[in-house]
Amino acid sequence: MIEGIGIELTTRCDRSCRHCMQDREQGPRDLPREVLRHLLQQLKGYGRPHLGITGGEPTMHPEFTGVIEDIVAAGCSYHLVTNGHRFGELFNHLVRCSGEQLARFCFSLESADEASHDAVRGSGSFRQVLGAVSVCAARNVPFTVQTVVTTRSLPELEAVASLCAKLGAARLFFAHPLHSPQPAKEGLLTSPAQRLEAEREIARLGDMFRLDIQLAVGHFCPYPFYQCSFLSMRQLFVNADGELCICCQLSRCAGAEAPGSEAVASLEESSLAQAHRKLASTIARFTKDKLQAYEEGALNKVDLFPCFYCQKYFGKVGWLQRYPDSPWHEAEPLRPAATVAGPGSTLIATAGPAAAAEPQRVAPGERGRSPDDSVAE
Ligand code: SF4
Ligand code: SF4
Repeated sequence: MIEGIGIELTTRCDRSCRHCMQDREQGPRDLPREVLRHLLQQLKGYGRPHLGITGGEPTMHPEFTGVIEDIVAAGCSYHLVTNGHRFGELFNHLVRCSGEQLARFCFSLESADEASHDAVRGSGSFRQVLGAVSVCAARNVPFTVQTVVTTRSLPELEAVASLCAKLGAARLFFAHPLHSPQPAKEGLLTSPAQRLEAEREIARLGDMFRLDIQLAVGHFCPYPFYQCSFLSMRQLFVNADGELCICCQLSRCAGAEAPGSEAVASLEESSLAQAHRKLASTIARFTKDKLQAYEEGALNKVDLFPCFYCQKYFGKVGWLQRYPDSPWHEAEPLRPAATVAGPGSTLIATAGPAAAAEPQRVAPGERGRSPDDSVAE
């Protein structure tokens, strides 16, 4: 069953965050309203799944308010991932026209400290987000927060959780940054060891706070066949070109050697069902190839970070060759499962560090191209 669809309304954005993975060289793209309307018509047969409206900054779509009216008229619930742009101007209209179909807003916080947050997301961003949050709190409209766990924010996770608890966030997501040239150049990309450290800290915070704290997709999983909500097709993603894609994480990665490899079909040229069928074939091929790599001992320990493996498979991280000392080149092989013949045969699966042996609590469908572009939040 399709639980949700992420929709990248536009690639426009008024910010230049230092960890942004979006390929700005492509120029701005806006999802044509006709394509969206056609998609919405087809969603009736899909049980009107929940929509995650994202960007770029989705409120910068030239027909943003009209688009929201279309979504409401189609009977879908939605949440809006926004950096707070034009929030004061748009809030009343969104709440009035959407009613309960507006499930929540999602904002990004890099730090509980204004200077640290603005150092990553640009001057004035912290106040913009906190202003939007206070409007939501005053009007009793649910909101969630996402934080990218960079080398910079790693020591500040507890402070972020504490602030979000005080602000009354419905949920806090922590997400690892996607591999992309910009955060790499800025020294913001965490190593595999730092990611495991972050995951232990996030688990600790989850026990410590009453706040619902979750770790977004891309976290370590000791089993190589972890299937996120996109690979199990519980979530779909449509980009601003009107293409059905594997997922939001792989979409528009800057510096990709295979740009567009994540797009499986144009919804201008195919029905949703046709595009869905192509997606199923692509995922089946991906899964078969991963199984083969596993059998042949070609998977490494770093491939247990599933988004990193996907980024490699779909040709998004060739630029990492410019960083020969990166720990992401680690080639410690993940030994394939061995079947012992005869009675009492055992399938021995290799596992990564025991400290992260269980998948963290993960909400369906979250994304992390930058978390504020997240599908789920
Ligand atoms: S991370 Fe999000 S808000 Fe920041 S520049 Fe990228 S798209 Fe814009
Ligand atoms: S990149 Fe991450 S979110 Fe996308 S399909 Fe792979 S594991 Fe899932």
